[in-house]
Amino acid sequence: MLSVRKTFIAGNWKMNLSRAESVKLTQALTAAFSADSAVEVAICPPSVYLDAVAAIVRGTSIGLSAQNMYHEASGAFTGEISAAMLTDIGCQYVILGHSERRHILGETNSTVNQKVQAAIKGNLTPIVCLGETLEEREAGSTGTVIEQQFDGSLAGLTSEQVAQIVIAYEPVWAIGTGKVATPDQAEEVHADLRRLLESRYNSSVASNVRIQYGGSVKAENAAALLTQPNIDGALVGGASLQAESFLGIISAAA
Ligand code: PEP
Repeated sequence: MLSVRKTFIAGNWKMNLSRAESVKLTQALTAAFSADSAVEVAICPPSVYLDAVAAIVRGTSIGLSAQNMYHEASGAFTGEISAAMLTDIGCQYVILGHSERRHILGETNSTVNQKVQAAIKGNLTPIVCLGETLEEREAGSTGTVIEQQFDGSLAGLTSEQVAQIVIAYEPVWAIGTGKVATPDQAEEVHADLRRLLESRYNSSVASNVRIQYGGSVKAENAAALLTQPNIDGALVGGASLQAESFLGIISAAA
């Protein structure tokens, strides 16, 4: 089947960089990234710097993503940020269900699902993260965990809504550890996810939804991962904090 999926590389800065460093990194990326690139690129700064970064990426082909949001539209939710606030300052994407939010901040499939629904309703493209821990992989339950996270995080969505999302497979044992999944290990889970998209929705959804890999992606290992048939991009943490390494991944993807 001829793929129509445009490779998508997103840089998740997490809780790193100062305002000045965020501005400098964004300027370096916009200066180097060509508008006619075959690769879609987005950066995900800390929420307090989204506005400053939005002012630099506006009018360029670099997209803007938040790292999280709350599912309610407005009201007494101290410390939270809504989908409308994110689109208001220029975000097109939002990362949801990142393993750090699931494992450190207590998010569940059900809270992720509420956020995914609100993001789609609010015209944001959710980058929905899922992935197994090392114990789960060693116990042979990767497939079951992925299926539960997939079903739980996407519950109640129509095929048309699922067609709008991006999925990021991020094995927890590979995030920030330098221990990247082999291309075969990653491809196996991506192919399973593609089959789930087909069985739960339809073949059009399965062939159009992009599935990023995330977990210690670097310029040196990106090409081997991205040439796998079901790997459509990367969600990059550490290597997105410096222009040179992030641009190296984008070049490998192109
Ligand atoms: C991530 O935070 O989503 C991630 C994949 O991090 P790293 O690239 O640093 O492993």
